[in-house]
Amino acid sequence: MSIVNRDEEMEALQESALDHLWLPFSQMNQFIEDPDDLTIFVEGEGCWLTDSRGAKVFDMMSGMWLKAIGYGRKEIAEAVYQAMQGITYNPWGATSRKTIELSAKLASLAPDKGSRVFLASGGSEANETAVKMAKKYHRIRGDAGRYKVVSRRGSYHGTTHATMTLGGGGVAAHQDYGPLQPGSVHVSQPHSYRCGYCKESPTCNLECAREVERVIQFEGPETVAAFIGEPMSVAAGVTIPHPDYWPAIRSICDKYGVLLILDEVVTGFGRTGKWFASEHWDLQPDITSVAKALSSGYLPVAATIARKEVADTFLGAEKETFRHLITYGGHPIACAAALANLAIIENESLVEHSERMGRYLFEQLEVLNKHSIVGDIRGGFGLFCGVELVKDRDSKEPFPPEAKVPERLTAVFRRHGLMTRVSNVIPILPPLVISKDEVDHIVREVDASLKELSEEI
Ligand code: PLP
Repeated sequence: MSIVNRDEEMEALQESALDHLWLPFSQMNQFIEDPDDLTIFVEGEGCWLTDSRGAKVFDMMSGMWLKAIGYGRKEIAEAVYQAMQGITYNPWGATSRKTIELSAKLASLAPDKGSRVFLASGGSEANETAVKMAKKYHRIRGDAGRYKVVSRRGSYHGTTHATMTLGGGGVAAHQDYGPLQPGSVHVSQPHSYRCGYCKESPTCNLECAREVERVIQFEGPETVAAFIGEPMSVAAGVTIPHPDYWPAIRSICDKYGVLLILDEVVTGFGRTGKWFASEHWDLQPDITSVAKALSSGYLPVAATIARKEVADTFLGAEKETFRHLITYGGHPIACAAALANLAIIENESLVEHSERMGRYLFEQLEVLNKHSIVGDIRGGFGLFCGVELVKDRDSKEPFPPEAKVPERLTAVFRRHGLMTRVSNVIPILPPLVISKDEVDHIVREVDASLKELSEEI
């Protein structure tokens, strides 16, 4: 059958998706029962997407917290086209120009300029690599008993078997796949609005950091390889820790010889108004994992950046070799896309822009406080903001699942041309190229959406 027009073409595409596509973390039955629920995007420009029905949507979640330079950047297409004329895969044991250039570029941006970079294709792989690197590091140093990894409940570090075991809850859905990776030890999330420790105290008492020390002591420091956490966590509800939290964690890790892995998969490359969020606290992680905005999602690329001292430990003979491999890690074409993306971030000063626009966005979000369902507005670190909704502002009681707040708000947002992944928190992490007018636009539309939601519930 020939396709005669765009509507028919889109209908055929939709049918095909309903029959054959398996969307991540989605109940496909929902789309089979209501095909109009399935959004098919056909165009993207800057912060905006156009769907198959011609509706324009503002992407407040940057795809999946990654579209730093926005959609539709021809420079990336050009860089990829050029790279495709050359080496299109690095044969076993060898490398090529773009892969070397990206490694050197990442080391030049990292807190330790002597870093060495292991390339992967996604954030889960980068974290999996980081954990294996930490275990092997200790083994080389004669500490083979160190295999446990301490992580925070509510964090998200990926979806492979090992990484879903870290953090936990939410998208990792580790309750579906037990038994989990042994050696995973969980501690509290630093959460200024919902902290179990400082409920009664007017300020943070850093008990969440002290808990890490207690847990390491309890487990036995000689069994603990690493601590992993996102500097600021979207998964845990767009949480921003107390300024003393990370320095405290660093000194606890130092005290017990535990490696500090910082998962900068979301926060890297300008999201929080610095190249890396670690810069906010002058923090030297031992290992940093990055992905997402490394290529702004134009091609899959990720990296595990090891501080020089960690990487140098692997310099030796056969037994010191890091026996780990990802077929598509360091793919030269993905590296070319990443280099072009980082050049745009640099040339357009998007890190500074994120800091400025983020401050402006956070100030403007204040207007939402007039809605009694708004419990907390978080931000102040670049374009990394969140609005937590509550049933009762005084008690901070959350809405029960039966109120279906995420589903309802997602539908209201859609009518207002907004998109983000709503839970009881509205994450607002737009592309770093957002303009001041666009900030005004999204604040106005979120405001109107919350008014509608308040009337509905
Ligand atoms: N770490 C963090 C903080 C993330 O948000 C994600 C994905 O959302 C990952 C790791 C996993 O990255 P990927 O989905 O590319 O494997």
